[in-house]
Amino acid sequence: MTAPSRLRTAPLRRAFAGAFIGALGVFLAPAVPWPAGAEAQAPTRAQNLAQAETPGPRVVASILPLHSLAAAVMQGRGAPALLLPAGSSPHDAGLRPSQAAALADAEVVLWVGPALEAFLVKALPALAPGARRVALMDLPGLPLRPVRPAGLWGGEPHDHGADAEGGEGGHDVAGDVAGDVARDVAGASRFNPHIWLDPEIAKRLAGGIAEALAAADPAGAALYRRNAAALARRLDALDARIAARLAPLQAVPFIVFHDAYVYYEARYGLTAWGGVTLAPNQPPGARRLAALRAAIRADKVACVFSEPQFRPALVDTLVAETGVRTASLDPLGVGLTPGPEAYFRLLENLTDSVVACLSGG
Ligand SMILES: [Zn+2]
Repeated sequence: MTAPSRLRTAPLRRAFAGAFIGALGVFLAPAVPWPAGAEAQAPTRAQNLAQAETPGPRVVASILPLHSLAAAVMQGRGAPALLLPAGSSPHDAGLRPSQAAALADAEVVLWVGPALEAFLVKALPALAPGARRVALMDLPGLPLRPVRPAGLWGGEPHDHGADAEGGEGGHDVAGDVAGDVARDVAGASRFNPHIWLDPEIAKRLAGGIAEALAAADPAGAALYRRNAAALARRLDALDARIAARLAPLQAVPFIVFHDAYVYYEARYGLTAWGGVTLAPNQPPGARRLAALRAAIRADKVACVFSEPQFRPALVDTLVAETGVRTASLDPLGVGLTPGPEAYFRLLENLTDSVVACLSGG
């Protein structure tokens, strides 16, 4: 099959996408049931058409935090479409026909990269061959951090500088096996893809989004850069608020559900003691659970966090057995209204949960 000409009209490209759907069973597989309301949040044909009437390019962003940054950068010249509702995990997502059509219609696609949205690796070149496809994790100079194995990471607080080569230490044999799984899960990347949870990195992402949009739409370049600069000032203020709230809690150890918060932990000097599971859709083994349980029983952790994207049965079990405090951390923004404010709400909500659980309040 040949790639569609860039001169084809949008309806033809949509028809092309429809013809493709049968051949895309691998990444259209609905292996994970979508949560209620997911379809309501997925981009609709009406949204795509409405978007086409704005002066800016047709932009699709993969997940809500990226969508929010892009919405702020585009303000005054259009609005991006959101590909994945926040209730579904990008780690194990599939594509619905409406989402495939949105990609086929896009001129710019913003995503984190193969380490997060693995389902887009083959789908993007197939569905959006003519689009400008921007993997934001590839922006030069980002302070990327390695994926940590599940299990216990030890109680060393993060330093505040970039530490791309790791040095977490203290991994057990099960952890080393998990590390191999991490490289499988993450594809070619050994770096942790949850880059958006550090407002300082979010500023860089906004800058990268502005430059990608400016390249796709030179007439809007000045607006995109102005918006990105205004967004950066707001992100600085958000960062200062969060830092002030978390400063008294830096030494309080906790366990996360999966290793989604390393950039947030590093930014604010928090002490993550471990993760329940490496790949959120894979349950941890008995050895790892036993190690976590022993650490909790020994009062080494103050809180165990669950996540709304995944069934918390394992966390429930750990909590019931040990009486440790628990709260939900949401890295993606379930229930938030997509748009320029969503990123700020997501970080504030995340911080509310961390403060409440670590302080016992
Ligand atoms: Zn994740």
